[in-house]
Amino acid sequence: MKVVVLVGGVGGARFLLGVKQALGMPAVGEPEQPTPHEVSAVVNIGDDAWMHGLRVCPDLDTCMYTLGGGIDSEKGWGRVEETWSVSAELAAYGAEPNWFGLGDRDIATHLVRSRMLRAGYPLSAVTEALCDRWRPGVRLLPVSDERVETHVAIEGPEGQGPRAVHFQEWWVRYRAEPAAQAIVPVGADEAEPAPGVSEALEQADVVLIAPSNPVVSIGTLLAVPGFGAALRATQAPVVGLSPIVGGQPVRGMADACLNAIEVDSTAEAVGGHYGARPTGGVLDAWLVHSGDNVDVPGVAVRQVPLLMSDVEATAQMARAAFEIAGLPVPEGAR
Ligand code: GDP
Ligand code: CA
Repeated sequence: MKVVVLVGGVGGARFLLGVKQALGMPAVGEPEQPTPHEVSAVVNIGDDAWMHGLRVCPDLDTCMYTLGGGIDSEKGWGRVEETWSVSAELAAYGAEPNWFGLGDRDIATHLVRSRMLRAGYPLSAVTEALCDRWRPGVRLLPVSDERVETHVAIEGPEGQGPRAVHFQEWWVRYRAEPAAQAIVPVGADEAEPAPGVSEALEQADVVLIAPSNPVVSIGTLLAVPGFGAALRATQAPVVGLSPIVGGQPVRGMADACLNAIEVDSTAEAVGGHYGARPTGGVLDAWLVHSGDNVDVPGVAVRQVPLLMSDVEATAQMARAAFEIAGLPVPEGAR
């Protein structure tokens, strides 16, 4: 079975663990083994930024570390057993930005990446090279090799109108506090899908939209025109899973992003925002959490438990997605 999953960072990475388990693929730390299944994750790059001369790709790294067993699972991002000497030294110099956590181990990843990018390798090739070490068992594909960066318009100083900041600054430094007046994936218009992305969609048996942030994770993918077109054109059923449970994001501040695009923080509103494929949207089916009574015109909706409390609970979500897509739940699944 060929499975394509659209993902952001923490929510997307956790969901990928469940997809692998549902397909009977080795868990984190288990030896690699041949599998008849192929999972490709198309990963958001809108959070990427240059910091201290280093290219940081938070969502790609979260997926890579999570699937490769290197993640700090308490925080959900960054490296396990991290130390912070470099950040402390940078702070002593007064070097900006000082609000973004860059651990020593993590910095090694950004050094390798930045050096390869400067040598002319595209992000997709760099990601593949980094995954040689981490062996995520899933093909991690940045949605584009071109630069797409999410910027957020917030209220500027008195009388000066709005100003734009990088998404990371709004999210990490300001904790999404000044309300976003607009969220713009800068560069998306002109970006092409990275090599392999359109082909993966074309050949997929099923496409899953992870319960990732609908605006700054999934929304950024959809903003790349060639990606949106390939998704709408795929023969495979497209099944989304709601990141909103009981009228709230399960973790984080996705509601602050949804406010900015005037979509309610409900599973129904997000499903409606994604829309039905026959009417120009992206969904054939929409999984919502048990008890969320939801109607999305033109979309098959089913209630199932959607809390990723552990890998097995997450695998059940993936199995429910395969089922509503009309696919057999794979052999060998635990
Ligand atoms: P980020 O890039 O690290 O913010 O991660 P994502 O965009 O991939 O995922 C963030 C989203 O995951 C948030 O909007 C959460 O609501 C959602 N999320 C986190 N944990 C769960 C869970 O257990 N169940 C569901 N349904 N959604 C979750
Ligand atoms: Ca992210």
